[in-house]
Amino acid sequence: MPARAAEQKGIATTTTERDAATRRLSASFNVSTPTDITPLETFLREHPRLLVLTGAGVSTASGIPDYRDDNGDWKRPQPVQYQDFIRHLPTRRRYWARSMVGWPWFRQAAPNACHVALAQWERAGRIAHLVTQNVDRLHQQAGSRSVTDLHGRLDEVVCLDCHTRLPRQQVQDWLCEHNPGVAQREATIAPDGDAVIDDAAFDDVVVPDCPRCGGMLKPNVVFFGETIPRQRVDAAIAALHDADALLVIGSSLMVYSGFRFCRLAAEADIPMAAINPGRTRADELLNVKIAARFEEILDGLGSVALGVATAQTPA
Ligand SMILES: [Zn+2]
Repeated sequence: MPARAAEQKGIATTTTERDAATRRLSASFNVSTPTDITPLETFLREHPRLLVLTGAGVSTASGIPDYRDDNGDWKRPQPVQYQDFIRHLPTRRRYWARSMVGWPWFRQAAPNACHVALAQWERAGRIAHLVTQNVDRLHQQAGSRSVTDLHGRLDEVVCLDCHTRLPRQQVQDWLCEHNPGVAQREATIAPDGDAVIDDAAFDDVVVPDCPRCGGMLKPNVVFFGETIPRQRVDAAIAALHDADALLVIGSSLMVYSGFRFCRLAAEADIPMAAINPGRTRADELLNVKIAARFEEILDGLGSVALGVATAQTPA
């Protein structure tokens, strides 16, 4: 088999060359230096039951982009404001048109390694409760059970008058039927499924009303400038006080609703750690800060995160 032997030899040579190149690259640019996660490992060993708070950073690997850069600054136009949405029909037309284009992309996003790992941690008894700022339901899809969707869920639409809740897909079907031209527009996707498309005239966009009472429909998410339901916040805060420590993953905490948990933890002397590649608003309050993406450190962390519970479970 000379051809096959040559082929194998060829592959081996290529691999060797690639390895050598990688080593040279690593030596020059330090690219393979792993983040030192020792402080986090210690933190996890000392605090078996966590309240985990997640942000956009855990969903970027699922194809849902983040709003903010590593400094916590806006990367794209600010999302819809609540008052603007309920007061102005043109804002609602623009929202529903963009959302209609973005929804099919958003809907097909699947959980990534971060979501899967956190679901495993919960099953291992390491996560008392998970609070997410994301509206994508990917934690639940991955198997997490004890989850607060702090900012709501995009797969539902709610009537502001009679509070009827509808599946987002049902509204999507209605939108497509009544706005056949909009679906054709090119778009890129934003974190809340609100696509960025050319600001063409939205005057012809037909906005959906509640099929039950004719009232105003809104996605069941908390818009900027909108208040989170008190009961939801209180339940999440109670969960924080029941936990041994707070672990923030993939959030810059620039939105107060997330930062509040760090302030409360600090006031109650609850230790806290954060895993986020950029600056967070709570950096000065943190006991441990790992400047990395969660998925980058998962391999090293997995056994530690799961191992503690096993070690502490009575035989
Ligand atoms: Zn209604």
